[in-house]
Amino acid sequence: MLKLYNTLTKEKEIFEPIDKENNLVRMYSCGLTVYNYAHIGNMRTYIFMDTLRKVLKYNGYKLLHVMNITDVGHLTSDADEGEDKMAKSAREQNKSVYEIAKMYTEAYQKDFKKLNIEDTEILAKATDHIKDMEEYVKKILENGYAYETSKGVYFDTSKLKNYGRMLSNNNLDDLKAGARIEVDNEKRNPHDFALWIKAPKEHIMKWDSFMGLCYPGWHIECSAMSRKYLGDVFDIHTGGVDHIPIHHENEIAQAIGATGKVPAKIWMHVEFLQINGGKMSKSLGNVYTITDLENKGIEPLAYRYFTFSANYRTKLNFTWDAIKSAQVALNRLREATKQHKNGVDEADDTKIQEYLDRFNNAVNDDINMPLAIAVVWDVAREQVKSKKYFDLLMKFDYILSLDLDKEESKEENYPQEIADLLEERKIARQNKDYSKSDEIRDKIYSLGYEVKDTREGQMLKKL
Ligand code: AMP
Ligand code: ZN
Repeated sequence: MLKLYNTLTKEKEIFEPIDKENNLVRMYSCGLTVYNYAHIGNMRTYIFMDTLRKVLKYNGYKLLHVMNITDVGHLTSDADEGEDKMAKSAREQNKSVYEIAKMYTEAYQKDFKKLNIEDTEILAKATDHIKDMEEYVKKILENGYAYETSKGVYFDTSKLKNYGRMLSNNNLDDLKAGARIEVDNEKRNPHDFALWIKAPKEHIMKWDSFMGLCYPGWHIECSAMSRKYLGDVFDIHTGGVDHIPIHHENEIAQAIGATGKVPAKIWMHVEFLQINGGKMSKSLGNVYTITDLENKGIEPLAYRYFTFSANYRTKLNFTWDAIKSAQVALNRLREATKQHKNGVDEADDTKIQEYLDRFNNAVNDDINMPLAIAVVWDVAREQVKSKKYFDLLMKFDYILSLDLDKEESKEENYPQEIADLLEERKIARQNKDYSKSDEIRDKIYSLGYEVKDTREGQMLKKL
């Protein structure tokens, strides 16, 4: 019996899919805005999403899961005000918005692969769904939940009795006092938000529509794409906790405006990853990526393991000491798994069943990964070394996705930066560019490694 915590009801609920006949779960996850490299905080949310997927499949459900890619620039504040994030990034890097979207999409997909985050059944790019968004906006207008101004189409929040309080218990007066809301005399209520925005001349991403050249508001993306693939009401919607007060409240408002229904039954939100007990921020220089971890000799899967150390509904604190310990623990876990693989003892079947029940109860209790990991360690540490325990660990690893059966690499574990330089040097040598090859050798030397050229290729020695 799978139980999931629902932000909408504030309760752990017994999960049952809407489509019982086909045992099919329909799920939507808010995807990345591709204007920058994704950081390890983002990855906490997507590792959770992936773990939830695998727990659902482990329980025998089929999945139809959509994740979007926000490649239309939404604005720097959640309330769709300020500068367009994609356009800003493009301007700063002297690239087109489309190049920016492509570059960061490829980058996050590489990180997902390294973290064993599997592909969702459908990956929906916002720019491929502009027509669906336009239709959705027209529907809200037709139903009388939105109005036109000289700037575009706005959602009329006064039409909903409990706007902004479905998920978050927001008090609109508090919101009003706290938020930086642009004064716009054409808006009927201060919290009315843009659905469809008339593009100023200099705006790059814009599409011809019933109101001339326009671009969509951020929230409408998810509403239009989830409805297209999953219908008016689907099973589960996921995102980070920052999505609760505005983005998801607005998705609900839009769906009520268009279809009269709350679009998802269960809303699940991942708490934030913090760094050294505080916020990650560019100005503090502590926005780390998976590549930053690799450059310090940390494997991406050690980060996946690290995220299992706290429940997804509690804050998780990242420190370099903690991630290094996670790497050591993961190495030990793999070593222990190998001992069972090669073990010749006979494990007791009732014990196997007990471990299995404990693990199942943990993952099915609202994806309690810290508890699940404790069971994994109990099995790994079993004195009796048995192939049956190995098989059990492999079964668990379907959800964990930590490559527990990974063979220790024969090469020394050196940082990604060095690996990249070695690759670059190999290419330089193939091109007979020996001055470049020497330059790279010196660079590697300055980073603490010596390269030797042998018949087998480049060999590395730590200085
Ligand atoms: P964004 O591209 O900003 O929409 O973020 C992508 C996802 O990462 C969203 O679901 C966010 O809620 C989530 N997210 C952003 N920062 C963090 C963080 N520090 N910890 C966990 N999740 C985060
Ligand atoms: Zn969304």
